[in-house]
Amino acid sequence: MADKVAIVGGGPAGMALALALHHHGIAAEIFDARERGAARKDKRILALSYGARQILERLGAWHGIPATAIATIHVSQRGRLGRTHIRAEDEGVPALGYVLAASDLAASLDAAITAAGIAYRENEKVMRSGIPGDGAADTANFALTAWAEGAVAESEATVRDYGQHAVLCTVATREPHRHVAWERFTPDGPLALLPFGNEYAVVFTCAADGAPQLAALDDDAFRARLQAQFGTRLTFTAVGPRVGYALGLRYRRDIVGERQVWVGNAAQTLHPVAGQGFNLALRDIWELGRTLADSPDPGDAALLARYAAARRLDRRGAIGFTDTLVRTFSNDFAPLAHVRGAGLLALDLLPPARSFVARRMMFGARSW
Ligand SMILES: Cc1cc2nc3c(=O)[nH]c(=O)nc-3n(C[C@H](O)[C@H](O)[C@H](O)COP(=O)(O)OP(=O)(O)OC[C@H]3O[C@@H](n4cnc5c(N)ncnc54)[C@H](O)[C@@H]3O)c2cc1C
Repeated sequence: MADKVAIVGGGPAGMALALALHHHGIAAEIFDARERGAARKDKRILALSYGARQILERLGAWHGIPATAIATIHVSQRGRLGRTHIRAEDEGVPALGYVLAASDLAASLDAAITAAGIAYRENEKVMRSGIPGDGAADTANFALTAWAEGAVAESEATVRDYGQHAVLCTVATREPHRHVAWERFTPDGPLALLPFGNEYAVVFTCAADGAPQLAALDDDAFRARLQAQFGTRLTFTAVGPRVGYALGLRYRRDIVGERQVWVGNAAQTLHPVAGQGFNLALRDIWELGRTLADSPDPGDAALLARYAAARRLDRRGAIGFTDTLVRTFSNDFAPLAHVRGAGLLALDLLPPARSFVARRMMFGARSW
């Protein structure tokens, strides 16, 4: 048995894992079904936490990415009382997080892969996990196969359909953003505005059946809808092109198997509220690299079990946090709205509680 790791999927999770393994002296090879560089066409704009930045720095993939710092997060619910501010200065960090283009992140990871001399086999589809026979190559001769294929196989997924879609775009505002991010909960789902360059990146969640109509609006009509959804604290002057995504929760119960491990969206695909998806993936990946460094056989069952146990708390926490936020805030049920308002107010008045939420989002469940 070779001591190498096969990574199936050269998206951000697969590339970050290859770098983490390389950092710990473990050889890996990436296989991707698409041509190399396809991930650079990703239209998403991501919010990464301060903790994610620290991991990317260690992987040699942070420097040079154009990123806009988040100094404050303003959390509120539309048309209801209660709001809270989470501030970087209160948490003793230079920024709560950073907003960057997924395409720039992919380019930076790819450059680091080249610099590290890691093999990347493009246009090489591997038999998908959980779907025998569907594909060309298989990786059985590797010590470990890390599935980073970007989706949880249907037969192995626990699924929650929120009936929500997201429309992403950028928007210019009359007021400068002053590095403030807005998370505004509405009955249709959360609306996030993230400072990005001189503009805001928008994640506009809507009911799935209204998504085609929303995406089809012309610029002026979309801008007016966005303004109505957000309220009057900012004035929107121009919107960029829109791109839509279906949202939901899908996750695997077990993230390790016999000489197999699942990372990134192949382990769990989360709703983007609170921007947890790739942040959680990076924490998983860092821990996986550290754990595998302890043995000459990266596919060792005891090692994989140790990794899964080490990640259980943080993983469950991130999945549960995201799921609870979406389900608690995406409705107009009046008694619940009051409870939510009281919760946001309490969070604003109680610095330790606020700090708990902030550090949890920045560093995961082991931040204390
Ligand atoms: C609207 C939206 C907003 C988001 N915002 C945030 C955010 O603010 N912060 C955050 O942290 N996360 C966010 N996320 C989540 C984040 O985008 C994902 O966690 C991340 O893109 C997942 O990367 P990945 O590498 O796991 O998957 P992918 O990017 O899907 O990569 C999978 C790769 O595997 C390859 N592949 C697939 N099948 C095979 C096969 N059989 N053989 C070989 N190769 C294969 C594909 O070609 C692809 O290159 C958001 C997600 C959405 C939908």
